[in-house]
Amino acid sequence: MATNRTFTMIKPDAVANGHIGAILNDIIADGFKIVAMKYTQLSPEMASKFYAVHKERGFFGDLVSFMSSGPIVAAILEKDNAVEDFRKLIGATNPADAAEGTIRNKYAKSIDANAVHGSDSDENAEIEGSFYFTAFEKF
Ligand code: GDP
Repeated sequence: MATNRTFTMIKPDAVANGHIGAILNDIIADGFKIVAMKYTQLSPEMASKFYAVHKERGFFGDLVSFMSSGPIVAAILEKDNAVEDFRKLIGATNPADAAEGTIRNKYAKSIDANAVHGSDSDENAEIEGSFYFTAFEKF
């Protein structure tokens, strides 16, 4: 059964371009509740750990350097069917393929600088949320 939580990051491109407020608005307007949130910056070591599943991919080095290049906003979000609904709200990985009105369609420029992260499974949502937040920081 699907759990009701997912994990997101507003990535360095969207933070640098001033889209934090607009993206949080879209997330809340879609019915998600923020249950944990943090403004922080990943070190290259932390980014490598977070994206370890992609370490064999050709773009891994670029991904790690981009994700550690500036501040991000990390958050845990709650809604029924959270993982699937959030993937719909953010749109395809490549913003060129992201449906009209999705967050990546509106705020992302390229496949690497694609504005937001969204967990791809309930299991990863739990792992990723716990990467950033202790039990005392989740509400
Ligand atoms: P997501 O689940 O939609 O975020 O996509 P993936 O799990 O497949 O990839 C993780 C992240 O790696 C994406 O969000 C992109 O930021 C990045 N990424 C994926 N494909 C590429 C690529 O071809 N080049 C680069 N530079 N980054 C990529």
